Amino acid sequence: MARHTKSVCRLCRRENLKLFLKGERCYTEKCAFDRRNYPPGQHGQSRKKFSDYGTQLREKQKVKRIYGVLENQFRNIFKEADRQKGITGETLLFLLERRLDNTIYRLGFTNSRNEARQLVRHNHFLVNHSKVNIPSYLVKPGDVIELREKSKKIVRILEALEGVARRGVPQWLELDKEQLKGSVKGLPTREEMTLPIQEKLIVELYSK
Ligand code: SF4
Repeated sequence: MARHTKSVCRLCRRENLKLFLKGERCYTEKCAFDRRNYPPGQHGQSRKKFSDYGTQLREKQKVKRIYGVLENQFRNIFKEADRQKGITGETLLFLLERRLDNTIYRLGFTNSRNEARQLVRHNHFLVNHSKVNIPSYLVKPGDVIELREKSKKIVRILEALEGVARRGVPQWLELDKEQLKGSVKGLPTREEMTLPIQEKLIVELYSK
């Protein structure tokens, strides 16, 4: 499957926002965005004014990159959001938040969504006591997500959990750090998504 293969830090610089794609490094002085806060490439430092279309496109790219989904997947999630009742832009974000890889990241089992996606694919997690290795699986209230017995000693997971206090766990989730288990208490809310996202622009882009 096609994936971004260059340094993911370029994506943060391109979107002019820290997307927190590199786990622990994002919180250190090594963060490339903090050191070079301008777009990558030869003309990165020249000022650029975006058209309306360009602004909408950048917003879509930004959200896609935050959640690490590909273009087709993103478009399908948008179509699903459009089919459901409610405000399409918000529903789109809720569907992205409810992905299993994002949920595991939000619970603090990993330092990035990318890492969460890998661990899910490698069968390290159970959902409601069953193996689920599909990162796009949508969690729902009442679901219980836990590490498989054989995965409870993975150092990088235990280290990530040590840092969970810094990031905090959103209210729609609950972490039982002792049992290495998380549960879904409710549905995500817009207020808890703190990254600056203007989902309205994505709706405008796909409505053309
Ligand atoms: Fe983005 Fe993290 Fe790289 Fe900083 S270290 S530029 S936040 S991916």
